[in-house]
Amino acid sequence: MPTRTPSPGDLEPIERASRDEIAALQLQRLRWSLRHTYDHVAPYRARCEQAGVHPDDLKTLADLAHFPFMTKADLREHYPFGLLAVPRQRLARLHASSGTTGKPIVVGYTLQDLSHWADVVARSLRAAGARPGDMVHNAYGYGMFTGGLGAHYGIERAGCIAVPMSGGQTEKQVQAILDFEPDFLMVTPSYSLVIAEEFARQGVSPESISLKVGIFGAEPWGEGMRGEIERMLGIDALDIYGLTEVMGPGVASECIESKDGPVIWEDHFYPEIIDPETGEVLPDGEEGELVFTSLTKEAFPVIRYRTRDLTRLLPPTARSFRRMGRITGRSDDMLIIRGVNVFPTQVEEQVLRDRRLSGNYQLVISRAGHMDELEVRCEVQRELQGRLSPADFEAIGRELQHHIKTMIGVSTQVTVLEADAIPRTLVGKARRVIDQRPKQS
Ligand code: ADP
Repeated sequence: MPTRTPSPGDLEPIERASRDEIAALQLQRLRWSLRHTYDHVAPYRARCEQAGVHPDDLKTLADLAHFPFMTKADLREHYPFGLLAVPRQRLARLHASSGTTGKPIVVGYTLQDLSHWADVVARSLRAAGARPGDMVHNAYGYGMFTGGLGAHYGIERAGCIAVPMSGGQTEKQVQAILDFEPDFLMVTPSYSLVIAEEFARQGVSPESISLKVGIFGAEPWGEGMRGEIERMLGIDALDIYGLTEVMGPGVASECIESKDGPVIWEDHFYPEIIDPETGEVLPDGEEGELVFTSLTKEAFPVIRYRTRDLTRLLPPTARSFRRMGRITGRSDDMLIIRGVNVFPTQVEEQVLRDRRLSGNYQLVISRAGHMDELEVRCEVQRELQGRLSPADFEAIGRELQHHIKTMIGVSTQVTVLEADAIPRTLVGKARRVIDQRPKQS
């Protein structure tokens, strides 16, 4: 039984409100958000006009279904600032995530947006049992990714002590945990196991590690992994969900007393589940693609943003808000490698930059220990066959590996093969991705 169960007095009134109160607040905020976006984001207004809908048509929450979607392609098309709803001077920060090829997608926040973000991450920490004065070791990467800074300001907002470790340097992470004795850990689930293994290697038993609770997200994980993390670190492991386009981590987060799926902070983010093929809204409980509409965001509002994440909406339990199930997959081809979003087309773009390589390539994902490994297999052009030395092959591989790391942010192992070494498919799509990772339970 978790030792840090929050008492009702620790909750904000909206977390305990009736569903009618929540729906009333959502409708009021949704009207504002839709109007704000329509008035200030020209490409979205154009799309509404095309669809023959106007913000005044929204009389009930269900009317949202008549409005057009936003997608990652929209963010790319209007890169970098074309979808901002405030003048650039009002921004307080930028963050970025992966686009589908080349350019990343960029989002902006006003000071008020950052404050709301800190509020929902602080709420997520309280849901995990954190209290003022608790120390939180934050090993999410700091930088353009939303993970590090998103968690950081929420930790401070919750009145906790932030240890801004960022990612990597596992031995140093372990030393800091041993020296400072933090209560909470925030990191990707896969990296938490790398930290756990380092503890084991140093002969530190789970009981003697100060950590009590871990809040893990940014990549899919399952109950099997939860059990393994809990056993190896002697903690309760909770799931936190989010994405850059909607805000960052803290769109939804799990409660320690129920551990039954992330609670969606529905007073800021309105969820829908749609059929990814038809776009039709599905009833709660049915699996489909998760769609979010921001209710309070100023700088970068999203209306019906298609996350491509496949899951279900579940009824409220520990809070008055609905929950989401585990992410069971995606309705696009995005891969998540050690928390970094990677689209095969991004790798393709880098392969095509090198004239010595044919455009044929394959991505092989495997799991070495607890971390995902990405191997990029490519092949030299037919006309170069027999004209390259082993050193040339090696140099091509090194260059490609470097370009992928700088442009996409993921470390890979590159294998350069002879011409025509990668099998072609005569019918249908080339098999670009071979996923050898064990299935999540
Ligand atoms: P983050 O920094 O949270 O990973 P990104 O915008 O880079 O934000 O990536 C968001 C994507 O990461 C989501 O659309 C989803 O596919 C995945 N993701 C984030 N959190 C989780 C989680 N708890 N479980 C499964 N997938 C997650």
